[in-house]
Amino acid sequence: MEMLFIDKHIGDIESTTRIAVIRCDIVSEACPGVGCFMAFNKRSMHFSEYGPNAQMVAFFTCGGCSGRRVYRLLGSLKKRGVDVIHLSSCMQMENYPECPHIDEIKKTVENAGIRLVEGTHH
Ligand code: SF4
Repeated sequence: MEMLFIDKHIGDIESTTRIAVIRCDIVSEACPGVGCFMAFNKRSMHFSEYGPNAQMVAFFTCGGCSGRRVYRLLGSLKKRGVDVIHLSSCMQMENYPECPHIDEIKKTVENAGIRLVEGTHH
């Protein structure tokens, strides 16, 4: 009986996915990020692929145009075992300010070897 519990526990640890979200610094002045967290907590929209053991381990803004904070934080995120980075929906939606640096930000994440997902709650 005890062995079954241990095996299940190990399986839970192995299936943990560590997720970070990058959001727009300008939009963060007016948005507390509730939509992103609600989508993650419900495993909806761009978080629907994750199981119950997935964890949101980082949630930060780009640092302002031109997204300089992204490169600086990637090393720290890699050291802490982040598996995937989502770009928040506010960075890509038409009714928000269009991000003139989105392509560079995407490339910076991809060059770091971390999986990139475009979008959170829309
Ligand atoms: S670089 Fe893009 S995401 Fe960052 S503050 Fe500027 S517009 Fe927003």
